[in-house]
Amino acid sequence: MNTVDITEFKGRNRFLSNFYAVNVMWEGEEYFSVEHAYQAAKYLYGSVIRSKIRAEVDPRKAKRLGRSPGIQKGWDNLKLSVMETLVSRKFFDNPGLRNLLLNTGTGLLQEGNWWGDRFWGVYKGEGENHLGKILMKVRGKLTQTCSTCTREVPLDPPKMAIFSKGEKSGELVFCSDECWNLAADSFRSISKIQIRQRHVLLGGLEDR
Ligand SMILES: [Zn+2]
Repeated sequence: MNTVDITEFKGRNRFLSNFYAVNVMWEGEEYFSVEHAYQAAKYLYGSVIRSKIRAEVDPRKAKRLGRSPGIQKGWDNLKLSVMETLVSRKFFDNPGLRNLLLNTGTGLLQEGNWWGDRFWGVYKGEGENHLGKILMKVRGKLTQTCSTCTREVPLDPPKMAIFSKGEKSGELVFCSDECWNLAADSFRSISKIQIRQRHVLLGGLEDR
């Protein structure tokens, strides 16, 4: 596993950039990249500028359109959580990108840039690097610890169990059939624990 620090999102690390072409949903509409969806989210649903951003193919032009007047009130308080939601969707919904992100291991992700952005990235050695921090946070959510062998495993799709015993309830994650079977055997010997297997999807559960 590569644990080298990444300080620019270009070349083979281009997939970390918000300009990377990948369809992302926002409020029921599909956009060509995280950048597109983020710029559109500045404006209220149904506004003309949103449809312009949505129709634009080039992320640089989408970014420029996002400087149009009419940005919704309180946007500054929303923008970090909007970005986190969009970046999460990008990586949770696309197995190829998810694996690329996981392969960055525990390395620093930093959006070094030449265009002077010290909020989302780092410019001339200074910056808050919020995009890099969000990427590292999302990366952390893409793995879970196997309840049997404690290995860190990718989230896709772990075998999960939900259990309840009296007031207590919780979730267990398993990396393999083997670990699942080992745990399931021990649950059967405890009469009051109910267990069911399920898929995990972002933002929702699906029983099976
Ligand atoms: Zn395991």
